[in-house]
Amino acid sequence: MHLIEDTTQKLVKKLHSGKNLKIVITTHHKPDGDALGSSLAMYFYLNSLGHISTVITPTDYPKFLHWMPGNEDVLIFEENKKMCLNLVEQADLIFCLDFNDLLRINELGEPVKNAKAEKVMIDHHLDPVKFDDYRFRSHLASSTCELVYNFIKKSGDTEKISSQIADCIYTGIMTDTGSFKFSGTTSETHRIIADLIDKGAKNTMIHEFVYDTNSLSRLKMMGYILYHKIEIIPELKTVLISLSKEELAEYNIKTGDTEGFVNYGLSIEGIKLSVLIIDRTRLVKISFRSKGDFACNEFAKKHFEGGGHKNAAGGQSSTTLEETIKKFREIIPLYKKQLQ
Ligand code: 5GP
Ligand code: MN
Repeated sequence: MHLIEDTTQKLVKKLHSGKNLKIVITTHHKPDGDALGSSLAMYFYLNSLGHISTVITPTDYPKFLHWMPGNEDVLIFEENKKMCLNLVEQADLIFCLDFNDLLRINELGEPVKNAKAEKVMIDHHLDPVKFDDYRFRSHLASSTCELVYNFIKKSGDTEKISSQIADCIYTGIMTDTGSFKFSGTTSETHRIIADLIDKGAKNTMIHEFVYDTNSLSRLKMMGYILYHKIEIIPELKTVLISLSKEELAEYNIKTGDTEGFVNYGLSIEGIKLSVLIIDRTRLVKISFRSKGDFACNEFAKKHFEGGGHKNAAGGQSSTTLEETIKKFREIIPLYKKQLQ
């Protein structure tokens, strides 16, 4: 693995010092499999060292992750503000997993920033914003879960990877690599996966829990999108899909129900960029997926207050859905060259 920044040696010593530390583990809002998987893996690992840790997510997360070990111990900040703020204030250490900018944890950002605790960033996104005291990061890692595996290995604690931890790490690597197919997937990723199965990760079950638990409304919405909502902009090899509040309401769409829809655009032969624009409750959320040279993260950062990875990024807009779509249509022709 090509680690870019690793300042964790001192931290490893601290974790092994025999003192029982109070630890908060947090991750980005609307956590995905990698965010929750890395957080829960770290939770079980730190507790196995005798520390007292708590996972706090800024918001809720999709139902297809509720089966995960430790799910019932997760505190959701939006639903338990007082208790979460207390834990953040009292913590000796705060682990920040799968994000590198406090803006990604919403209103939890300020209290985390101001907390007396030392902060640890374990992450695989580009362009970190400094708020941390310790770093273990590489944008070349397939997932934060792969980094968590390497963190535990580096701490000399591989034997502490229980079947529960293995399940959590497996989930994050699986979801962030699109089931081991995206470009961040290396032979090392597969070796880690093999080791996790040896340690008891229930691989077949995990795939079923994550991918075969569609609600009927999600499936119907998928059919609706595929039939009615895919717009191809042929000269730009781009697919544009947009969803209004009314459409979301009609299909009774819940958190996580639109996960993966953007990938269908990219599955069309010859398409280089797929964009999904959704009118969410608080703002308009945009997902970008690309193949090849088009840098989604740079585009998202420049035009839609976002970021992420080269081929998978997200952004947002505080204007209306219509205005966001209009803006996108106006800007995207400027990128014709990268989309050829
Ligand atoms: P998704 O489209 O699945 O929401 O996100 C794809 C990728 O882009 C993820 O790696 C996610 O962390 C990143 N991402 C999504 N939304 C944002 C955003 O608003 N800001 C930044 N910096 N990254 C985002
Ligand atoms: Mn991730």
